[in-house]
Amino acid sequence: MIKIAGLGISGIYLYHRLRNSGFDVSGYDPQKDNYYNPCGYATNEFKMSEYMSKINIDFKDYILSRAESITFSGNNFTGKTLTPNGLCTFDKNKLETDSRKGIKRQIIAQKNGDIIIDATGISRSYLGQNNADIQYKTLEYLTEESNFPDFYFYFLPRGRGYFWSFPLGNKFHIGIGSRTTEDFYMVRKYKKIKVASRNIRMAPLFNPVWKGNIIGVGEAIGTVSPLTGEGILPSIKSAEILFDCISKYGTQNLGEIYEEKIGKEFGYYAKLASMVSNIQKGNIVKIENIRSIKYAKKTINEFGIQFNILPFIRHFVK
Ligand SMILES: Cc1cc2nc3c(=O)[nH]c(=O)nc-3n(C[C@H](O)[C@H](O)[C@H](O)COP(=O)(O)OP(=O)(O)OC[C@H]3O[C@@H](n4cnc5c(N)ncnc54)[C@H](O)[C@@H]3O)c2cc1C
Repeated sequence: MIKIAGLGISGIYLYHRLRNSGFDVSGYDPQKDNYYNPCGYATNEFKMSEYMSKINIDFKDYILSRAESITFSGNNFTGKTLTPNGLCTFDKNKLETDSRKGIKRQIIAQKNGDIIIDATGISRSYLGQNNADIQYKTLEYLTEESNFPDFYFYFLPRGRGYFWSFPLGNKFHIGIGSRTTEDFYMVRKYKKIKVASRNIRMAPLFNPVWKGNIIGVGEAIGTVSPLTGEGILPSIKSAEILFDCISKYGTQNLGEIYEEKIGKEFGYYAKLASMVSNIQKGNIVKIENIRSIKYAKKTINEFGIQFNILPFIRHFVK
């Protein structure tokens, strides 16, 4: 039996993919349905719609706001307007609650022959802690007002994180992810309806992505863009890769096969994480950073933003 621990977006997706293909699968998550998920709820509508259609969800029913213009700003530049290419926010809580309804929750009891999926996100409850882990602190408010009507990003000095304001229909998510809590004042000045906060994993943990009969997906293995913090689609993508491996190859040597495919798809996250770390240390003009510029462009484009990197290099070089 395949037992999925963690019914966040990656666990839910994997559950339905496996179940709909006839696999013997169960899921467990102690989280209550009315829990307010700490996340900006921003994603790429086009890519998300494709994945959701595979588990019979019509993604457009959950969209709250579509970006019309996107502002990128930073300590050395004041607001560049970028063109969206799918960037939107959606009701992540509702989508997750609705799609968990058909899942019979069963506490994970390990038996011989079981495959355990660690989809427990930041907790890594089954794979365990890893010394290479890099986590940022976050603080996010749900608000009725924002100084920014459309999608807004402000990149903190020395690449230590960013502030965001995303519209959610008639409300906003205003948040910050940073190496340090000293930047949290930027969010605290807003009037909050709710607070949502947890650490976010900002570097991949792909060596290994498995341990014995335990296999990790999603943020548990660090499928979060080290530059943008985008983790929803990358985590779903990791679940799709695992589903594909199980469907094609069964459970024999599953860990090795899956790890190789994750490395191929997300290997560039290690390069991005290293670029961000170099910037944070002040080592900006490094040949490996220049080589990674194409990956920075790729990860921003995938989030649903048309992006040309050159005007932004100045922000980091100055
Ligand atoms: C403040 C913030 C803002 C973000 N904004 C964005 C954004 O705008 N766009 C974007 O793409 N990404 C964003 N992310 C990242 C994104 O939310 C995550 O990377 C993504 O949701 C990861 O999905 P997941 O399924 O791997 O893990 P999660 O969604 O974290 O799910 C893990 C689940 O495991 C459960 N669990 C924990 N321990 C156990 C256990 N022992 N047994 C069983 N279950 C367990 C938890 O209850 C949880 O439901 C943000 C993250 C944060 C913190």
